[in-house]
Amino acid sequence: MTTARPRPPCAGAASGRPAPAPGQQTPALRPTPEVAAARCDPGLPPAGPRIGRPHPVSALADRVSDLYVRLGFDVVRLPLLEHEEDNFDLLGYPPDHPTRTRLTFFPAPGIVLRSHASSGILGVLRRAAPGPARALLVATCFRNELASPYSTPQFTQIDGVVVQPDLGLPDLVGLFDTLVAGLFGPEHPRWLRRGRQPYNAPGFALDIACPRCADGCDECSGRGRVEIAAGGVLRDEVLTAGGYRAGHLMGLSFGCSLERLLRLRHGIDDIRELLVNDTRVLEQFD
Ligand SMILES: [Zn+2]
Repeated sequence: MTTARPRPPCAGAASGRPAPAPGQQTPALRPTPEVAAARCDPGLPPAGPRIGRPHPVSALADRVSDLYVRLGFDVVRLPLLEHEEDNFDLLGYPPDHPTRTRLTFFPAPGIVLRSHASSGILGVLRRAAPGPARALLVATCFRNELASPYSTPQFTQIDGVVVQPDLGLPDLVGLFDTLVAGLFGPEHPRWLRRGRQPYNAPGFALDIACPRCADGCDECSGRGRVEIAAGGVLRDEVLTAGGYRAGHLMGLSFGCSLERLLRLRHGIDDIRELLVNDTRVLEQFD
């Protein structure tokens, strides 16, 4: 005994459309809403809006700022232009200093494209004098030099300045420790050695153990250590130029380049990649 097999529903019935009459041309098939929703083309960008994020340099500036805001620092973003006097003269740079004569852009007489964040120190002192000051300066800086894997004509610097009674080198060490511990961990080895900045006396440079090797690589030139910051005691001449009475208060300053820190923290081989705005690169930083 045989039983009649049920007929499968035709395409028209499945899509809710009536079946064509005999001799009538079959209409073009269109996907049902369910089928259309299930389609996936892996070559297309993700559906929906893409979530933005701060540029890695901005994110690091925020992170370093957070470290010092806890210590009572005010964060100050500096403009791109600066008076030549604040950028060089009042900080003790001689007229023939190579940074001034060869590496600085002068868009107008007496005006420079800021070549370092330290030029904002005078503004902080003028606003705070004769009282104490504690500020963190964030600046986009420019120097007239060719870009390389290690440096670019545009870069970002952070400078800190503190003015108050009874400051000393242990306070400077503590400020450097805050930077190293916050970015590389509290146990990361660090060393302070003498350095030279025209506005510091004495001046120091901060070295840390090379984050990219154990016993020497190209990044550290085989030394196992890399310099990440500089600082020192502000000269009395700088404090006086900022409006303070000589010998009344003491000042400290310290500074670092954020692109250099990013290079070390993330092992970036070519620092220029931070400027090309390729989202495939920039989205790798968190
Ligand atoms: Zn190394």
